[in-house]
Amino acid sequence: MPTCQNCGNEWSWKQTIKTLFKLKCPHCGEKQYESASSRRWGGMFVLIPLLLIMPVNIWLEMPIVVAILLVIIFLLIMFSTYPFILKLSNEEEPYW
Ligand SMILES: [Zn+2]
Repeated sequence: MPTCQNCGNEWSWKQTIKTLFKLKCPHCGEKQYESASSRRWGGMFVLIPLLLIMPVNIWLEMPIVVAILLVIIFLLIMFSTYPFILKLSNEEEPYW
């Protein structure tokens, strides 16, 4: 779970989901940023399912509806596991 770099309090899963797009600490109200290493992980999280789905989709000649459904399921899984990989930073870090 992410820990606020300002007040040191850990965010719960629910608190993280709630503030996922703002990343504002529920304890001290300070704005937090996603750390560079965490963002790299986040990018892989998006890429891996897509890279997996594309060839399987072509190979099995899966109907587009099933493929879209799979992507939605992957996105939901990603979304719910995101608080576990999210790491916070006080300042916006450069990507690399
Ligand atoms: Zn805080």
